Amino acid sequence: MFDMNFILPRLHKTPALNSLSRCAASFIAALLLLAATCTAADLSPEPTSAKAGKIPDKLVVMTFDDSVADHATYVAPQLKKFGFGATFFITEGFNFLTNKTRYLTWEQIKELNDAGFEIGNHTRNHQSVQTQSPDQIAADVAHIEQQCAAHCIPRPTSFCYPGYATSPAAVQVLRSRGYRFARAGGRQAFDPVKDDPLLMPQAFDSKPDCKFEQFVAAVAQARSGHIAVMTFHGVPDLEHPWVDTAPAKFEKYLEYLKEQGCTVVSVRDMAKYLPPPK
Ligand SMILES: [Zn+2]
Repeated sequence: MFDMNFILPRLHKTPALNSLSRCAASFIAALLLLAATCTAADLSPEPTSAKAGKIPDKLVVMTFDDSVADHATYVAPQLKKFGFGATFFITEGFNFLTNKTRYLTWEQIKELNDAGFEIGNHTRNHQSVQTQSPDQIAADVAHIEQQCAAHCIPRPTSFCYPGYATSPAAVQVLRSRGYRFARAGGRQAFDPVKDDPLLMPQAFDSKPDCKFEQFVAAVAQARSGHIAVMTFHGVPDLEHPWVDTAPAKFEKYLEYLKEQGCTVVSVRDMAKYLPPPK
């Protein structure tokens, strides 16, 4: 058996390692840990219900915007408790760089990734793409990709439009950079047959005045090949009170998803249920 207490610190502290090889070391360490702790049954690739191209009813996607600190300290542990996946859309906008009490650190973002959650791109500055040139959009998107690379987080393939504002130029930039999904605003379920995945609508946008019935109605849309994509910000969100979700309300939503037998995944993992991209 491997002695992980011996291997891990040495892999991480080797001074000659550059950023790329540090990521490789991190990957090797994760593999060693997997080999040391997993049984063959743990390694089965996907649940039996996940058949490519077959979208089950009650498929729900959870997304969390704006890099709020409680995504790491409260939201992720809650989701884990229920066995739910999710995407965290990261921006360095607002007061991300200066207020490290209210916003995630990159170390916490890396921990969210390591815990199996998806890290998505919400741009460097959280500026509306409708006010930007294609070069400015590309630069803001590239910055989050570079930060992910520097912290050994896979290059994002999911994007979220700041302020729900979309533009044809942004779609083009995202397509050329290899993005598969981009979440916008709206109030309807995602229909992979009709909707452009780079203009994916949300079925629910959690706000302080949202009624439980609105969440129930959004979940009910997840049927007949449609997928309910849910948007949240902080739980609570003290920096952006207009998109706040109270923890008690959030836990009620999670309980409901469990009660209903929903499959709750990240944007990235939703792709397992879709036909391969053309
Ligand atoms: Zn945002």
